[in-house]
Amino acid sequence: MENEAALSQINPELAARVRRMADALAARGIAIRVSSGLRSTAKQAALYADRANNPNPVARPGTSKHERGEAVDIVPVGARSSGAVAAVGEEGERQGLRWGGRFKTRPDYPHFELPDTVLEHAVRIAKDPDVQISGVGLFIIGLGLILILRS
Ligand SMILES: [Zn+2]
Repeated sequence: MENEAALSQINPELAARVRRMADALAARGIAIRVSSGLRSTAKQAALYADRANNPNPVARPGTSKHERGEAVDIVPVGARSSGAVAAVGEEGERQGLRWGGRFKTRPDYPHFELPDTVLEHAVRIAKDPDVQISGVGLFIIGLGLILILRS
């Protein structure tokens, strides 16, 4: 199975969550295809060089979670209604994944990734205009700082 080949190369926790997404979506009559999983930095660089021809945003090489096996792109199979895309996003978020459909500057609807670590979240807030600083995010950062300062 094509999806399994892609899932076998990525972070096992992400793969498990994607399998649960696939099961939940199948129960809703929606089949999914993993259109992109792990990427080499060379592959990311090639995509970045051709980003003008890509309907989705492409991260700079060295900065994509695809290069670490912590991101996948998933599309509904068959008719790509906005309803099906929204359902895929909903099930991904239900599995605790960060959905590119929520990216503020430029949504990336097929993209799902593991949530940031505390450090990654702090760096993203410092660098990324897309970030939404949620109450939960602030709480986690505050907790992280307390733990660092007390250690
Ligand atoms: Zn992606």
